[in-house]
Amino acid sequence: MPEIRFYNRKPVPMEMHKVKIVQKLTLLPAQQRLEKMQEAGFNTFMLHNGDIFLDMLTDSGVNAMSDNMQAAMLRADDAYAGSETFYRMRDKLEELTGIGNLLPAHQGRACENILAQYFVKPGNVVVMNYHFTTAKAHITRLGGRVEELVKEEGLIPKSTLPFKGDIDLEKLKAFFAQEKDNTAFMRIEAGTNLIGGQPISFANMKEATDLARKAGVISVLDASLLQDNLYFIKTREESMKDFSIREIMRKVSDLFDIIYFSGRKFGFARGGGILVRDEALFHNMEDLVPMFEGFLTYGGMSVKEMEAMIIGFDETMDMDIISQGPQFIRHCVDELDAMGVPVITPAGGLGAHLNAREILSHIPAEQYPAGALAAAMYLAGGIRGMERGTLSEERNPDGSERIASVEMLRLAFPRRVFTLSQTEYVIDRVKWLFDHRDLVGGLRFVHEPKTLRFFTGVLEPVGDWPQKLIQAYIADFGEDQ
Ligand SMILES: *Cc1c(COP(=O)(O)O)cnc(C)c1O
Repeated sequence: MPEIRFYNRKPVPMEMHKVKIVQKLTLLPAQQRLEKMQEAGFNTFMLHNGDIFLDMLTDSGVNAMSDNMQAAMLRADDAYAGSETFYRMRDKLEELTGIGNLLPAHQGRACENILAQYFVKPGNVVVMNYHFTTAKAHITRLGGRVEELVKEEGLIPKSTLPFKGDIDLEKLKAFFAQEKDNTAFMRIEAGTNLIGGQPISFANMKEATDLARKAGVISVLDASLLQDNLYFIKTREESMKDFSIREIMRKVSDLFDIIYFSGRKFGFARGGGILVRDEALFHNMEDLVPMFEGFLTYGGMSVKEMEAMIIGFDETMDMDIISQGPQFIRHCVDELDAMGVPVITPAGGLGAHLNAREILSHIPAEQYPAGALAAAMYLAGGIRGMERGTLSEERNPDGSERIASVEMLRLAFPRRVFTLSQTEYVIDRVKWLFDHRDLVGGLRFVHEPKTLRFFTGVLEPVGDWPQKLIQAYIADFGEDQ
């Protein structure tokens, strides 16, 4: 479905679904939000969902299911071994990708664990367009390292480049010339998460996988965010516009030796899986599934979720459905951009990304501007986003901070969850916060975990800025909201 046009010509995203079941939301009074943020150690991961008005932390496992997905759950075939549900899932994925060898896993990072366990040896390198937190953590845990070769322009916050997730092919060629024997695999991430949900073009994936094949290096697609990427290939890549989403899906799949995905995103449910083209390699990798995930026909997933996901895969091939996310995100990003709020452009998939480095340029990188912006966003309206910046990095071996190349607050748009008026509220509160950015200060660790510190770390504000911010908020909106 092309965008619905309004008589007044204003581009407005339209919900192509109606609401059938709802969950009540609460908006805590401002002062109470301050208390909840203090209890959560100024880490939005530690907030209770009931204390949040709009949860835009992630699109992982929180997308709305359709009536057809829910209906399918009733026919789930519970069996420890040989579940019919598994074979239906395998067959659906084979229909879409041409690969019928499926290793099931309970979520995306479980796939990353299995891939790293199988391929990564100490001293190895995994070359990629850009890292994802959990993918990198599994590789480095096993003594490997990552080499990120995303095009330089991909890291520039404000841009008009349609495919900021593209890998630099010249650098990739040079890399393979030096390092191919030491390379565990090449990992291409669709909808490149940490640079703002930015897509990679089909043409770039094709050239990168050709180079890998010539170098004798296995190519792996992280398809977790492929949904948005398919939409962007169809709408932004001139040579691909006449292909259906299903055809693009197949063309992309045909490029790779291995495809893995988080079913918490791809498929709108909860689960994951690895598709392995080579039969012998598939059987060699099989051993790891019963050890870490569960028997080979469920891999730690609920069969109900698997049935829902099978329908979700088909819905992912429906342009009406997959255009919702990017259109709502573009509306949010374009409105904020027009108001002068520094956002990552062009709008990508996954969510709206605020450029915290620029918004809070008075906060030193070591005091986590994006983390501070995440805390401030909850105070200013009960909106929970996710820090994507230095706080999400791990320290250098010498203990110094590794300053992230991009410092963002991500406001994710879980699919089919929020309405336009809720989106307008988000735009409004972001603008308010931007106008009061001078009131926001930094954060420092009270308790700092060694790995993936952003998940459970406890922080405190540098100074009493949260109180001052709440006072300003109450002065504008009153005590009760
Ligand atoms: C979310 C995500 C993962 C991890 O998936 P989980 O199901 O959350 O473990 C891996 N890669 C990308 C690109 C993701 O966005």
